[in-house]
Amino acid sequence: MIAIDFGVYIVVAIVVIALGAAAGSVALTRTRRRRRGAAPTAPPDAPPRPPLQAPTETTTAPVEAPHAPTPAPAAPVAEAPPAAPPSYRSRLGGVRGLFSGALSSMRAGRIDQDTWDSLEEALIRADVGVSTTTALLDELRSKVETKQIHGGDDLLEALGNSIRELLHTGGSRELHFDGRTGSPDVWLFVGVNGVGKTTTIGKLARRQTTAGHSVLLAAGDTFRAAAADQLAMWAERAGTEIVRGAEGGDPSAIVFDAVQRAAARGNDLVLADTAGRLHTKVNLVEELKKIRRVADRDPGNVTEVLLVLDATTGQNGLAQAREFADAVDVTGIVLTKLDGTAKGGIVISVQRELFVPVKLVGLGEGPDDLVDFDPDAFVDALLAPD
Ligand code: GDP
Repeated sequence: MIAIDFGVYIVVAIVVIALGAAAGSVALTRTRRRRRGAAPTAPPDAPPRPPLQAPTETTTAPVEAPHAPTPAPAAPVAEAPPAAPPSYRSRLGGVRGLFSGALSSMRAGRIDQDTWDSLEEALIRADVGVSTTTALLDELRSKVETKQIHGGDDLLEALGNSIRELLHTGGSRELHFDGRTGSPDVWLFVGVNGVGKTTTIGKLARRQTTAGHSVLLAAGDTFRAAAADQLAMWAERAGTEIVRGAEGGDPSAIVFDAVQRAAARGNDLVLADTAGRLHTKVNLVEELKKIRRVADRDPGNVTEVLLVLDATTGQNGLAQAREFADAVDVTGIVLTKLDGTAKGGIVISVQRELFVPVKLVGLGEGPDDLVDFDPDAFVDALLAPD
């Protein structure tokens, strides 16, 4: 009898310890979610968010519905707090190297034929573009002739000022967010395949979530199944949800569904991926126009159309950019892969030729390697001594 009673005590003690551990683990999960800046919960007077519904007339299906199994994250990045943004200087090694000859000549106080030649070569090789390079050098030469510039140091300062002036055109660099109640802002991402659209959306989802937005991702690139999988991985990292459909499905339907769901659930921002590859340019243009129209239909509110360009493609990227700008009203440029390319000068011609502001730049593949474009920091890094 005593032995039985003792056994019962042990069983009860084990159950009590197990329940305590489970409660502790739930509390920890919640704390972690809050710490990593998960989407803010609805205010007390807001209606509760309805759960993501099963796919209906559209082919979209939630990847991260609360009741569905979530894919394992590729890396435990969501647990890590956002790192300090990388500095331009640390990531612009490629293009900085091109200017070292011209800069050392100017710092030595010289303005001779070698100085002009090496400056011209650096600007051309950095993909600033022939017309912009010519305009820049003509302006500097005339300042030397009219004695506004006396020596190498003056020339260096004038060069920096001229580049800054070129970069300060194109309008506001702020990402536009209206935040109307019940009407999610939609930011569309356009650009050819491989430029870094999906990666940019992933990085931005993390950034906007950390800033307190409730973000929903729309996997509108239905050309590659891998694009939606890749986006799902970034959604996991950012602690956001994603609406996706079948490969080859209608991207407009996915974006439409995402906007409806976002409005119903109280998400204030939809980041929508699009495909950058269709059989013909006409198809691509029509597709993008349709996505934009559908995304802007009530309750959606398209407040950004961001053209993603790969800096490593240099001047070739500009031709693509013009086509996309013709198709949809582009509100800003995201210039990716500025790290590790010597063609960083493209940032100057993009602004000069398209009159659209570069709003964000990619300085690496990591989740925190997307920064606001800061022209002063860019020029300082470009012309800084080694
Ligand atoms: P998408 O086809 O336009 O969606 O392009 P992805 O997002 O799949 O990106 C293509 C490749 O570019 C991937 O390997 C990314 O990791 C890489 N990438 C994207 N942005 C950057 C960047 O800013 N720097 C570097 N170095 N790589 C990047």
